[in-house]
Amino acid sequence: MIDVLTAKAELYKNLIAGEWITATSGKTFQSTNPANKAEVVGEFQASNEEDVKRAIEVADKSFPSWASTPPSKKAAILNKAADLLEEGVEKLADELTREEGKPIGGSRKEVLRSAQTLRYYAVEGQSFTGETFPQDDPNMKVSTELEPLGVVTVITPWNFPISIPARKIAPALITGNTVVFKPSSETPLIAYRLVEALHEAGLPEGVLNFVTGHSKDIGDSLVTHPAVKAVTFTGSTGAGEHIHRNVSLETRTQMELGGKNPIIVMDDADVELAAQLTVNGGYSLTGQACTGTSRVIVMKEVKDKYLEALVEKTKALKIGNGFEQGVTICPLASEKQLNNVLNYIGIGKEEGATLVYGGEHLTDGDFEKGFYVQPTIFSGVTPDMTISQEEIFGPVISVIEVENYEEAISVANGVKYGLSAAIVTNNLKTAQQFTKEIKAGTVKVNRTTTGNLINAPFGGLKKSSTSTFRESGRAGLEFFTQIKTVYVGY
Ligand code: NAD
Repeated sequence: MIDVLTAKAELYKNLIAGEWITATSGKTFQSTNPANKAEVVGEFQASNEEDVKRAIEVADKSFPSWASTPPSKKAAILNKAADLLEEGVEKLADELTREEGKPIGGSRKEVLRSAQTLRYYAVEGQSFTGETFPQDDPNMKVSTELEPLGVVTVITPWNFPISIPARKIAPALITGNTVVFKPSSETPLIAYRLVEALHEAGLPEGVLNFVTGHSKDIGDSLVTHPAVKAVTFTGSTGAGEHIHRNVSLETRTQMELGGKNPIIVMDDADVELAAQLTVNGGYSLTGQACTGTSRVIVMKEVKDKYLEALVEKTKALKIGNGFEQGVTICPLASEKQLNNVLNYIGIGKEEGATLVYGGEHLTDGDFEKGFYVQPTIFSGVTPDMTISQEEIFGPVISVIEVENYEEAISVANGVKYGLSAAIVTNNLKTAQQFTKEIKAGTVKVNRTTTGNLINAPFGGLKKSSTSTFRESGRAGLEFFTQIKTVYVGY
């Protein structure tokens, strides 16, 4: 990303108080294509604290009237925005692949999932309500009211740059909150399209405000303004911890952070299935999914057979830009991502892990234009190695051999993260024991570590989330409301 003062690519603006406006800084930045770094996808506002302050104040002013807008009217706007996303799916998927790099099929799915999320909350939000409590006084009613919080700041990463914002913004809006949304500076265009759809669907001015810019300039002001009643953030654990420490006692936080997700392969497992689940979970989105499989903990008896199957399936993966038919491994989303992944591959080698496959930065032909790295497998990895402990966020799989289930669960839990975890086994007892003993917010048996439903809660344990509120499903609405308990005597 390059800060520039003059525009060549199309210029996109912030949305504040219902108007598309430039940042007061007069500065912009560019979003580029990770498959072709010379291609500028769009030019965006490099906002400063003044822009953020204005967006928050506008959202605060718009809150009372939006909070009292009938739920059916709010739902109609979400549904209309969903229509617009669905009608525009081809164009939006094309933009998403050019901006983030993922395969075009995955981009289409993500745009449609975002529309589905808006529709889900349009329905679920209309029946989200308080409770009435039985008690002894016949002349009294005790119940809870669920009230919106006020201004909510939404901060999102680049890896699911429209579906993550949709799953935060839709429940925030349907419950009556107003929003200030800052997307990742790697993928502002597709975030802009979501905002555009909601704006065109008839959202009143000031209810959703969109501010682009660098976190070093606006990160703190987005979360510390006294009018901000909640911050919903998805991103790295480091940034999440910084924000969590930074906000006032009165500001609620919901943080969806990093992961180091294991898959345990038991000795009774179908190794072909285990290898396929590892490939699907470890390499989809080129390893850049928060729930991506990054550690395989495999029983000694089946390790060789499993590893052989894993290498064979990895070799068969097609590498290329997201528009090519049948690709799995696409460019990493940015140069920063590329350097990060190459750095961890170097550390893996230095610390004595065996590089079984891949590990190369690809620069031949068209690969030279983008940020490509081979899918990579390390074996002989020990639990204390850096590549066992730290989130790499790339297509790098570490295979750790263990003697038995007890050792496997101890290794699986021996990291600071607890986002998602899986086991491959046909033994019901082992599967059941695993779901109880694994410290992860999402637990899978004979399925990939990746993937979560729109209508089920999602979130992590330990340093993968704040232990506050879940996202997604009905649970996703709870974060955006506060409970008032009302006693009425009559
Ligand atoms: P990141 O933390 O660098 O940035 C995420 C967002 O936060 C961006 O919009 C960024 O500009 C903003 N930001 C960064 N520092 C900030 C600060 N101090 N104050 C305010 N805003 C700040 O993360 P990323 O590189 O965009 O995304 C990758 C990370 O996101 C990985 O760690 C991944 O595991 C995590 N992630 C988690 C989930 C989940 O649901 N748990 C989902 C997707 C990604």
